[in-house]
Amino acid sequence: MKAYGVNELRKMFLDFFESKGHLKMDSFSLVPQNDKSLLLINSGMAPLKPYFTGQEIPPRKRVTTCQKCIRTGDIENVGKTARHGTFFEMLGNFSFGDYFKTEAIHWSWEFLTEVVGIDPDRLYPSVYEEDDEAFEIWNKEIGIAPERIFRFGKADNFWEHGAGPCGPCSEIYYDRGEKYGCHEPGCTVGCECDRYIEIWNNVFTQFENDGNGHYTELVQKNIDTGMGLERLATVTQDVDSIFDVDTIKALRDKVCEVAGVTYKNDPKVDISIRLITDHIRSVTFMISDGIIPSNEGRGYVLRRLLRRAARHGRLLGIKDRFLATLSTTVIAESKDGYPELEEKKDYILKLLTIEEDNFNKTIDQGLKLLSELEEVLVKEGKSTLAGEDAFKLYDTYGFPLDLTREILEEKGFVIDEEGFTKAMNVQRETARSARAVTNYMGADETVYLQLDPSLISAFVGYEKDETDSAVIALTTETEVVSELVAGQKGTIFTKETPFYATSGGQAADTGLIRTASAEFEVEDTIKLQGGKIGHVGVVTKGMIKTNETVHLAINEEKRGGTRKNHSATHLLQKALRTVLGSHVEQAGSFVNEDRLRFDFTHFSAMSKEEIHKVEEIVNEQIQNGLLVNTDIMSIEEAKKTGAMALFGEKYGDSVRVVTMGDFSKELCGGTHVANTGSIMVFKIVSETGVAAGVRRIEALTGKGVFHYYEQLEAELNQAAKTAKTEPAQLSAKVESLQEEIKALQSENEKLKSRLAKDALGDVMNQVTEIKGVKLLAARADGVDVNNLRNLGDQLRDKLGEGVVILASAADDKVNLIAMVTDSAMKEGAHAGNLIKELASLVGGGGGGRPNIAQAGGKNPAGIDALLEAAPKALEKQLK
Ligand code: ATP
Ligand code: MG
Repeated sequence: MKAYGVNELRKMFLDFFESKGHLKMDSFSLVPQNDKSLLLINSGMAPLKPYFTGQEIPPRKRVTTCQKCIRTGDIENVGKTARHGTFFEMLGNFSFGDYFKTEAIHWSWEFLTEVVGIDPDRLYPSVYEEDDEAFEIWNKEIGIAPERIFRFGKADNFWEHGAGPCGPCSEIYYDRGEKYGCHEPGCTVGCECDRYIEIWNNVFTQFENDGNGHYTELVQKNIDTGMGLERLATVTQDVDSIFDVDTIKALRDKVCEVAGVTYKNDPKVDISIRLITDHIRSVTFMISDGIIPSNEGRGYVLRRLLRRAARHGRLLGIKDRFLATLSTTVIAESKDGYPELEEKKDYILKLLTIEEDNFNKTIDQGLKLLSELEEVLVKEGKSTLAGEDAFKLYDTYGFPLDLTREILEEKGFVIDEEGFTKAMNVQRETARSARAVTNYMGADETVYLQLDPSLISAFVGYEKDETDSAVIALTTETEVVSELVAGQKGTIFTKETPFYATSGGQAADTGLIRTASAEFEVEDTIKLQGGKIGHVGVVTKGMIKTNETVHLAINEEKRGGTRKNHSATHLLQKALRTVLGSHVEQAGSFVNEDRLRFDFTHFSAMSKEEIHKVEEIVNEQIQNGLLVNTDIMSIEEAKKTGAMALFGEKYGDSVRVVTMGDFSKELCGGTHVANTGSIMVFKIVSETGVAAGVRRIEALTGKGVFHYYEQLEAELNQAAKTAKTEPAQLSAKVESLQEEIKALQSENEKLKSRLAKDALGDVMNQVTEIKGVKLLAARADGVDVNNLRNLGDQLRDKLGEGVVILASAADDKVNLIAMVTDSAMKEGAHAGNLIKELASLVGGGGGGRPNIAQAGGKNPAGIDALLEAAPKALEKQLK
């Protein structure tokens, strides 16, 4: 057997199945389309589900792929077993109601033993215990001795996913020899250790489960197989683990180089090395498919993997940022099979760097939180950290349990690990129920699933706004029908339609479908799997029947506005890349007749100047009157011309390329103006952040801009009118109003203080002397605290030396203040203590420094008693 490389094996597999009549298809994105049952694509079969159910007609009945996969379920195994990665590539051959068990088994054997040249004596098939048919094929046709064929139960060898298609499996195991064994008694095929590793799984989808465990034979039987490319390479290269095969070893070496460690020196270090090697592959591919780090869903998976890698880097002693460096190696090793990696390189590296920086900050915050928690433990005399706290560190700050444990151990603390597990399980449950599985397809059940999959509708709306065509199907909201009558809501399907269905961010057309006697108002147009376009709405007159010819006409004005906005987003995208840089990628968009919204990857808010520059560029290209051309070409040709494509988008063989002069070139299925001049004008109305690393621009074109300014003008006029001036003088007027307010405020303050003095009257004649210290205790009602202080200051100055006590009844409350001069303090007087004693007489409390103190009270009726008590209170203090 030759030690074939990963890239070689991928090609050998696809070529082999191509020679068996299969259509070779590119890997699909890691992001599932129309499938709510999955967060990430985890097998070659997952993205092909519509072909398996027959909902969509496959381009050929035999297909072969090498699919990128992510399995977070295997995360705990990664680094520990020889055969698990969170990221791996799955080779697969698929039959949609074409060949079945015999061919599948024969071809898998032929590929492994003849094409790759694996020693047949080291291969062991397994079958489902009740699948005699597969057993016979292996035994009689392939010639494998019965004792070498293993029969396993449902858990291992029956593929099933709730209700829907299911069936038995047959796996192929490879014996890597005793040195990889666990040496436990009974270690044989099926043992969890790394000696017999499963390399290929053949699923024979032959039954339909009704959801209650009743199985019926499927009319269309399918074949779905999956073989781990990395595992196959481990076998052919006769190496220890998937981390030793050529391409992955190159990455592993890079990890060692960056960390300054050697592989195979210390088992604990090796786990970290393998873990980083794996996770950096996952995150690089996920980002290239447009996934953005966040705190939920796919984004959370990405963030978690990224943080685990970063943390293990720290464990290895890496001080600086390192993820982007490693990602460069991933891109270099895999760009042949996955050109999107190279295309999105700038963006991938930038995003990784930012997220890693964020993580480093979070780690520091987590450490801070942990030391606060430690302090609380010490204070409360406890030695166990609550499980929930440990979980919070894990969940929010990315602290794995062992990190928290390690840090705490040094200080003699432990973690309530049971509590941690409990908190973790609660979260898992929540995550699971949030992702309640709908059905096999992971889509909501709709009436449209009952339609004949062979029905398709052709879109003719690029050229025409109206057309005549035959009705090919009708549905109400719940069932397929042959007629719809006035008042009924439903969906009409026709052979041809000028109605654009919502897709690529462009809003659906609305309009009318009519016959001589009937009318149907189209409120929405939808695109269904299998190339059907549905007109959703209500019959307003007469009756519409299948097979009859109807006239379809879109709302032209609405389409016209939408066109302008859609074309403007193309100009906008190019302008953004020009102004901000090539890391700008479209992350989403929406256009309708009123406005456009464009989401894009960028890592900080745009400055006013940048926004202005972008507007300027777009408007310049509008004025240049660029011709808009659309060409249909192959995806390869399109990419060669440099057309911008969307993240992780799966394009068909031929694509539509929209060109605007020499300025912009994008793959796009939407409808556009013929000349950018018709957009008239472009205006950005907002720029905001929608997620980490994603900005959103909202903008207007054409009449929308005029309406925008009309409204602004109206508001300005209204404001001017309210300010009793002309719009041009509004600023000056507002300024002078503000001046006036300022002047009035200061005058008001002066008046208040004068009022306070008046309220007090002439009080200097009330001064008494206690043990040689002058005391002025007086009342001044209706004065607030600030003015009471001012008043106190003035009286103290007048007094020269001594003690001032002022009480004021204001709004049912009492304000109290005491002031003591330096020489009086020397005699023993203390403002704070005076206040403390006296305040109780007005139902309050307070205190303060020796020289000044204040308090509040609730009982103005006590003020007189307070003033009377003041001399006594002072006397007590004096020496
Ligand atoms: P295992 O029991 O070893 O985890 P599995 O039963 O989960 O394997 P399948 O779901 O049948 O595997 O997937 C098909 C093939 O994909 C496997 O035969 C294997 O070659 C490969 N594979 C599965 N999981 C991984 C993984 N985490 N890393 C690498 N390859 C994998
Ligand atoms: Mg598994």
